[in-house]
Amino acid sequence: MRGSQMCFVRTAGCSVGCPSCDTDYRRQEFATDEQIATRVDQRTPREARERWVWITGGEPTDHDLAPLIAALRARHFSIALATSGHRPIATAVDWLSVSPHDPAKWVQTSGQEMKIVPGLNGFSIQDFRSAHPDEETDFRYRYVQPLSIGKQEDPASLRTCLEFVKANPNWSLSRQDHHYWNVA
Ligand code: SF4
Repeated sequence: MRGSQMCFVRTAGCSVGCPSCDTDYRRQEFATDEQIATRVDQRTPREARERWVWITGGEPTDHDLAPLIAALRARHFSIALATSGHRPIATAVDWLSVSPHDPAKWVQTSGQEMKIVPGLNGFSIQDFRSAHPDEETDFRYRYVQPLSIGKQEDPASLRTCLEFVKANPNWSLSRQDHHYWNVA
């Protein structure tokens, strides 16, 4: 999974409504589930050891994902899904990445990985962990990720992350590298 080539599908729209949302919606078009799956299929090398697609948003669960996932499965793709976790995930995927953006709305408390971004929407990791101790969630990997502003990491958020991982060795540091690499 780590370092695997991924084809990204970014669904339009988001019901979470973060005040500092930086998702770029200038490039968008309508496509059916079959059209999306066909395009992903054409853009992913056949000789790839594993064929992965990463569905993100916006908030992908604002849409009924079952038909798209079925169309991708029919083309032998493994499915990764990124969500803010404010809806339970109904359709099984191979990698579920949950990044709570509004702790008050957060319901999806299991998956392969969770990412917390201190400072996002006033997010306090201490408040979050008091409300949701590790024992009440089920994630294989737990990350803290410094808030990115443009192509810079917010110094206060980075400091919080570094202090947090030092004090909590079952959590790891992560970065929003796609912001720096211009890949998504
Ligand atoms: S969850 Fe993501 S896409 Fe949705 S409003 Fe927040 S930052 Fe924007």
